Amino acid sequence: MTIQDDWHNWTVGEAVETAMHQQITRAGHVPGQPGALDGGMTIEALPTWYGGTTFRSALEASWAATLDTLRIAWEYEPETVTLPSGATYIPDFKLPDIGAWLEVKGTGVPRVEKAIEFGKSLACDCDFRSCACWWRGGELVVIGHPPAPYSAWSDPQFADVENINYRAMANAQRRHGGHPNWTSTRGRTLWLTRCQDCNRGTWFDWGQCRACHGPLAGTRGYRPGEAGVEFRRITGPKPAGDESAEAA
Ligand SMILES: [Zn+2]
Ligand SMILES: [Zn+2]
Repeated sequence: MTIQDDWHNWTVGEAVETAMHQQITRAGHVPGQPGALDGGMTIEALPTWYGGTTFRSALEASWAATLDTLRIAWEYEPETVTLPSGATYIPDFKLPDIGAWLEVKGTGVPRVEKAIEFGKSLACDCDFRSCACWWRGGELVVIGHPPAPYSAWSDPQFADVENINYRAMANAQRRHGGHPNWTSTRGRTLWLTRCQDCNRGTWFDWGQCRACHGPLAGTRGYRPGEAGVEFRRITGPKPAGDESAEAA
């Protein structure tokens, strides 16, 4: 059995899903423009204000708002990192409560070399299955590309073009049911969900909540188009009529 098979075997209950989505909806408080999490995000490299922080782009501000909705604590560009190669790197978001970092990438911007090097420097040397570190596998770097439904063709486990297993790929596609997956710098597939125990969002590549370290049994990954789990799109330098915005 592979690790991913463990995940596929989690129970899925409609009542659980409904409760999960209602909780997420109640937690939402940002009057942004909601859009599907897999909606086409264009890169708007204009400084964008959200929640007291000025971001380099609307996409980054949108990620901050989305993280708020998911109750994932974030720090924007909190530190400059010197990588093992000597290069300097400023990760976009630190997510301290889930031992993760988020590198925001828009479509058509595939450059992730620094994020990957950073992720490798944070990984522990344990075998993933027997790792007993507080953060299993070490801290995680998530490549925050605009999420798209799962495709077996972009799944690292099917990357061997010499041995294409069409049957396995079709099975994986069917079992995923359209759940978006994210790339971690460990080469593993990540999913996003909301923990039923601590009610916080978390990425996971193992059946354990990264926020509370409880089991994620009974929950499942986010699926596009679900109410309450939307990418919160923030646009414009400052929201009109927002009195909390600092005067220029
Ligand atoms: Zn470890
Ligand atoms: Zn949890």
